[in-house]
Amino acid sequence: MTFAEILSQENAVHHLQTMLRTGRIPPALLFHGPAGCGKYAAALAFAAALNCTRTPYTGPERKKTAQAAEPGDLFTAMFQPEPECETKEPPVPEKIDVPLWESCGKCLSCIQLKNGVHPDIIITGLNDQTMKTGKESGNLKVDTMREMLKKVYQHSFISPHKVFIIRDAEKLVPEAQNSLLKTLEAPPDGTIICLLSSDKNALLPTILSRSTEVRFSPLSTEAMGILLEREGIPPETARFLAQAGQGSLDKARNIKLFRERAENAKSTDNVYRFTTTLSIEPYKAREETNALLDLMIYRIRTIWKNSPERQSTYARLLRDIIELRSFTNRNISSKGILQAALIGAESAGIKSEQLLGE
Ligand SMILES: [Zn+2]
Repeated sequence: MTFAEILSQENAVHHLQTMLRTGRIPPALLFHGPAGCGKYAAALAFAAALNCTRTPYTGPERKKTAQAAEPGDLFTAMFQPEPECETKEPPVPEKIDVPLWESCGKCLSCIQLKNGVHPDIIITGLNDQTMKTGKESGNLKVDTMREMLKKVYQHSFISPHKVFIIRDAEKLVPEAQNSLLKTLEAPPDGTIICLLSSDKNALLPTILSRSTEVRFSPLSTEAMGILLEREGIPPETARFLAQAGQGSLDKARNIKLFRERAENAKSTDNVYRFTTTLSIEPYKAREETNALLDLMIYRIRTIWKNSPERQSTYARLLRDIIELRSFTNRNISSKGILQAALIGAESAGIKSEQLLGE
């Protein structure tokens, strides 16, 4: 991932590239902005530029070993000892002309990061926690942070900087946040910790005061369309999702998944059947409900503007749905909340299917 590939986040990219250009890099960074707006892509581009050697990775023997290695074992493969029979010294490769604030994509560090096997760029978050523990959770636990912190105090393998990227930082339980404080205050030399959060209010003041904030905005509709098309989504659907996602790729993807399930369901002719197409995983169901309620709010606002004669009906409906939206982060059934919102919309004359139409 390079900064050149990041769309619609000029201010954040400029802020990060200034740090790289001047070499003044704070040890703790807080990437803050809506979910799915490019914080993770920017953190990867930043880590890549920071550790890029700008020297092409060449080494036929090592390349051969890498190809023969098991998938996912590229790191081990790249560190295989050189064969003893090697007689000719390989020529010293020329430096690649890439500035300090971008990465080359061709050096060992860039290749390892691209393959997800960089030993000095450590990524953690909810998905990673689920994979390691085998348990789905809506929170980042203290054990996950303790596991990561062990690596902070180990020597780096190949790069001058060890970069820790903590995704979903807004889901860190208070105990997990407290476990980070000492490291955020006095990290070992060359250690950079990037906290990625969509909700600053969920972080303790002690975390905020120790971190330098890098602000991200919602993505523009145009950028969303381009990025969704890059994921292989047909242009027409990408256009709909770009608008429905309202600046968040995560929301757009959740709406896409729900819509596909609704289209494949045998029958969605009433709200009860319609909501059975929510994900069966409670955490995902909550994310989908949030995305769908935001889409409803957006759609109803548009209808409201175009129907002056029914303004009071739509104003009441909007108020109810905004209130229901605030319940989704509590321990209440997502399906129940979505049903209540859809029943309210139907009684105001808006069909459930209308909400997902293009
Ligand atoms: Zn590189």
